[in-house]
Amino acid sequence: MSKSAELKARKAAAVPNGISTKGIYVVKAENSEIWDADGRRYIDFAAGIAVVNTGHRHPKVMAAVAQQAQEFAHTCFHVAPYESYVRLAERLNALVPGEFPKKTLFLSSGAEAVENAIKIARYATKRSAVIAFSGGFHGRTLLTMGLTGKVMPYKRGFGPFPAEVYHAEFPQPYHGITTEQALADLDRLFHGDVDPKSVAAIIIEPVQGEGGFNVAPFDFLRALRRLCDEHGIVMIADEVQGGIARTGKMFSIEHSGVIPDLVTTAKGLGGGFPLSGVTGRASIMDAAHPGGLGGTYGGNPISIAAAHAVLDVVASEDLCSRAAQIGERMRTHLEALARRLPAIGDVRGLGAMIAFELVKDPKTKAPDADLTASIVAHAEKRGLILLSCGTSANVVRLLSPLTIPDAVLEEGLSVLTASVEAAIGIESARAVA
Ligand code: PLP
Repeated sequence: MSKSAELKARKAAAVPNGISTKGIYVVKAENSEIWDADGRRYIDFAAGIAVVNTGHRHPKVMAAVAQQAQEFAHTCFHVAPYESYVRLAERLNALVPGEFPKKTLFLSSGAEAVENAIKIARYATKRSAVIAFSGGFHGRTLLTMGLTGKVMPYKRGFGPFPAEVYHAEFPQPYHGITTEQALADLDRLFHGDVDPKSVAAIIIEPVQGEGGFNVAPFDFLRALRRLCDEHGIVMIADEVQGGIARTGKMFSIEHSGVIPDLVTTAKGLGGGFPLSGVTGRASIMDAAHPGGLGGTYGGNPISIAAAHAVLDVVASEDLCSRAAQIGERMRTHLEALARRLPAIGDVRGLGAMIAFELVKDPKTKAPDADLTASIVAHAEKRGLILLSCGTSANVVRLLSPLTIPDAVLEEGLSVLTASVEAAIGIESARAVA
């Protein structure tokens, strides 16, 4: 029995079924490559789900963590605060768009950041309702699961869900949902389900992650901003997956020029160490009473040290430009593949957050989840880590580290082509796109 097979069996016996994993038991990871327990090498097009944007074990991130571990590892910010937390808040306040005073608090996970953003918006507005979008993903805690607009695997069997959460259509031009239709759906919500004057917050991922890398049209984001202004609603941009240089800008909302009131961050911020944040208008962020926000681990010193190094690396290695470059290369490659393979119905995304949607028929656009799973499995066999996404599980997303060398990126794209061809049943001897 291989070491990986042995670990898989032990995992099945010791870890609950609800925790799904790939079969790659990692023993080492470096920049954009991973090695498993059997010595197999993988190219990483997942980056720990958009977490190691600066690559696995970036030397500057590792050095910052090692240095912090020499000083102190945990005191709890509420008990004995530290300068590095305050300085990271200052840095995020400056980086998040908006020419107004801002404040930031730190937490540990993306879901916790979203939970806190909603708590803050409710406190500040003295309202309770929240609007989220179909296909949106905001986490697995009770409130964030309620906000999530994707049933499998996140919601089935886990209800009842929190009250006062409403879902509106997310525009999806490929599936015929235009900005106008999505706005009409919000109007329907405001007339049929919830008074806009009772809405505390509208939360949106400017680029949906788990929902299938759907990019919110910029005119839609602008219209949401206007509606929020008109009705006194807090606009929250969930940048947990799309933030920290991933889309070619520090925050994905920046492409639209829209200024949200609150921004949630996580994943890429800590470069692999658990850290999340809520940054936004000081007037809103300051509403809650002392002791109302926080947590034992929020803004852990080790994660904060890692985040400082991540922000340094993003600037010094110009990872925003690199994300745009990687995205362009991936898009060109996928578009060429799509021209000869009708099963690829759509190629979309922003910066280095690129995906392709698999369909049974380009006319009906019926989702092909089986083909999607088969592509991911073929890639894994060939040494490439891919993730699927989409409400119908028929989208493959590419999320390589932004530090991936060109040679590894090209190698990964060739393996991707071979995997798609193998899954479709085409001889992989044919020319690579
Ligand atoms: N929000 C978005 C947009 C996400 O993509 C995710 C995770 O994928 C979350 C929130 C939840 O983050 P976490 O898994 O760290 O709780």
